[in-house]
Amino acid sequence: MRMSFGLTFRTAKGRWMANLNRQSSGGSIGLFVPPSPPLDPEKVKELQRFITLSRRLLVMTGAGVSTESGIPDYRSEKVGLYARTNRKPIQHGDFVRSAPVRQRYWARNFVGWPWFSSHQPNPAHWALSNWERLGKLYWLVTQNVDALHTKAGSRRLTELHGCMHRVLCLDCGEQTPRTALQERFEVLNPTWSAEAHGLAPDGDVFLTDEQVQSFQVPCCSRCGGPLKPDVVFFGGTVNPDKVDFVHKRVKEADSLLVVGSSLQVYSGYRFILTAWENKLPIAILNIGPTRSDDLACLKLDSPCGELLPLIDPH
Ligand SMILES: [Zn+2]
Repeated sequence: MRMSFGLTFRTAKGRWMANLNRQSSGGSIGLFVPPSPPLDPEKVKELQRFITLSRRLLVMTGAGVSTESGIPDYRSEKVGLYARTNRKPIQHGDFVRSAPVRQRYWARNFVGWPWFSSHQPNPAHWALSNWERLGKLYWLVTQNVDALHTKAGSRRLTELHGCMHRVLCLDCGEQTPRTALQERFEVLNPTWSAEAHGLAPDGDVFLTDEQVQSFQVPCCSRCGGPLKPDVVFFGGTVNPDKVDFVHKRVKEADSLLVVGSSLQVYSGYRFILTAWENKLPIAILNIGPTRSDDLACLKLDSPCGELLPLIDPH
């Protein structure tokens, strides 16, 4: 069955309007969160013990922490985009090499942006932000690019794969806010309209070739270079300085909690290996199996936003 989120975008009096149907507003959450067994009180107690004993807790989050905010992930069984469509995410090399690829990417991203950027933190993000405020969380590393940890107030944070809310010039490296680019898109494309049939975790949507070819993409206002979201695409690499920084935080930590990640991507998985080599206890909260289940002393299959607020960080 094709899952359409029923998003329709139209210009009205020069303003972009998004008409969201029931599924993509309040009803979207159940669409993206995989089914899970009921909370096991014994496991909750074990996680509470794990957190209570931690003095320098490092938390690593993935797409599973944001599905309860209505953002789909790529890999979850049955509900992830790989399971529901045959679409694959953008590849770094294709984006950098090809102007038509960038045009297609930005046209889709332009349509998806009002929806993608409007997502709000869920109780899992708020819980982690609260742990930081109370001195329980030593460092937070996220593989997500949705800015939801920042929106929840987390500051001791590394966005491993960057953030969709920033734009990077491929030539001069200047960083600009994504909101400013949206305004430039609107000025350049006053009559452009499109209908979106599905939204990916990176804010991408599905469009026809005709719609894409008439879309105007601005370049860097400083040097004229091509623009890219400040995120690591598939096939791209994480900045080595950032990798070193996170390795140091892992070595300084005394325990590691994984939240909502299957750890299939090496850029996150390598830090689990570092934690394991440094004999840190590892707990994993993720619905479904992960690449590191055999390294964890504790594994919980529960929705993050239900479980984390139950934990007392004192
Ligand atoms: Zn530039």
